Formats: sequence, C-alpha cells, structure tokens
Amino acid sequence: MTENASLPNSSSDRLYFRQLLSGRDFAQGDQIATQMVNFAYAIGDRQTGECVLVDPAYSPAELIEVVGADGMQVTGVLATHYHADHIGGSMMGFDIDGITALLDEVDCPIHVQAEETEWIRKTTHISPEHLMEHTSGDVVSVGGIDITLLHTPGHTPGSQCFLVDGKLVAGDTLFLDGCGRTDLPGSNSKHMIESLQLLAKVPGDTVLYPGHQYSADPSATMDHVLAHNYIFQGL
Ligand SMILES: [Zn+2]
Repeated sequence: MTENASLPNSSSDRLYFRQLLSGRDFAQGDQIATQMVNFAYAIGDRQTGECVLVDPAYSPAELIEVVGADGMQVTGVLATHYHADHIGGSMMGFDIDGITALLDEVDCPIHVQAEETEWIRKTTHISPEHLMEHTSGDVVSVGGIDITLLHTPGHTPGSQCFLVDGKLVAGDTLFLDGCGRTDLPGSNSKHMIESLQLLAKVPGDTVLYPGHQYSADPSATMDHVLAHNYIFQGL
C-alpha cells in the first residue's frame, strides 16, 4: 500500500461533474431563471479541487458557493454562446447577472470561440483581457481533466460544445428534442446542419447534456438522441 492508494487515479474517478438547473438548483425564486430552465454545469478535478463553470448566469455567486460546498474552487468559465440566459446581459428588458458579476468574485479566464468574442463583448461589456479565444479542437485542462472544445456554429456564429469523459455539453446547439433556434441575430441554418452532422459522429454512448431542460429527461445517450430526435431525420 502506498500513501495515496485511496486517491482516485483514473480520470473518471477524478472527474467532478454537476448539472445545475436554474430556478431549482440555483437562482431559486428568480422568475426568469425559473422560466428559462437553463442548465449550468461544473466540470473539474476532484483531486486538485479546481473546476470550471459552463454558462454561469442568473446567480454566479451562488454557483461559486454550490461548488465551494463540494470543496471545489472556480478557476475558469466556459461560455457556450453569447445569449444573456447563458452568460448574463440584457434580455427581454431584464438584466441577467453572468460572467461580468462572476469576475467580481473570481479573477479567471472566460473561454470562448473566437467567432463569438465580439457578440459576448456586446452582450456583457466584459473587458477583452478576460476572454480567452479558442478554435475548434482546443483542449482546456482543469487539473488533470481535459475538456475538448468543439466549434458548432448555427445557433450563433461561435457556439461551442464541450466533450469530457464521454459527456457532450452542448449549450443551445442540440437538445434531447430539437436543436437551437436559427432565426436569431448571428444564426445560420446551413452552419447548424453541418454542426449537427458533426455531433452525430461522436460515439453513441456519449451522454448529451443540453443547455436547457426542454425534455422530461435532463440527459440522454447520443444513440438515443440520434434515434428519437426529429432533427436528425433526413440529415
Ligand atoms: Zn441561445
């Protein structure tokens, strides 16, 4: 027996992964958060205690507290896309807290696709030095956990999905039923089709974690989604 024999070794044991529903798991009592049923995610390394937050909107300070109660410290943010219900900003006449408020609590990089930078700056007025620009295939390491960034334009020009340990965190690109809207500023339906074709190629046992709870189930395998989500019929 070595001293650290009880420490988890494989990446699966080290992986910290939480799916958090707005209005239920955080931002309780916030009407917009409750209506919008956004999912935020925390992904980290249990061994080093570091984690990143995916789309920390509505109540970033509370999300920091939630992961803090698990012994995890926020060291970065992954932004799926520029919409205010994901990263904060103004929407439907309401001001939603997000990455700007988070930076008041923790000084950390916000990882974005390069194509989304200008849109994120316009939505949040964040100072550019906090934005770390990426291209598709880049890997963000959180402790010993590697997260692969996939550029999936369509819903917005720089929408991105994240692959980590057999999980696909898809933002508003793909839901269990349907996909993100392509009638919004910066949307492109041709790019959306290409992005969905890309996502259709991830291994079938990969579990899809979407950006909103628009279905009864909060997650499903890609095998299930490819067989049941109408958006893949005829793609
Ligand atoms: Zn969106």
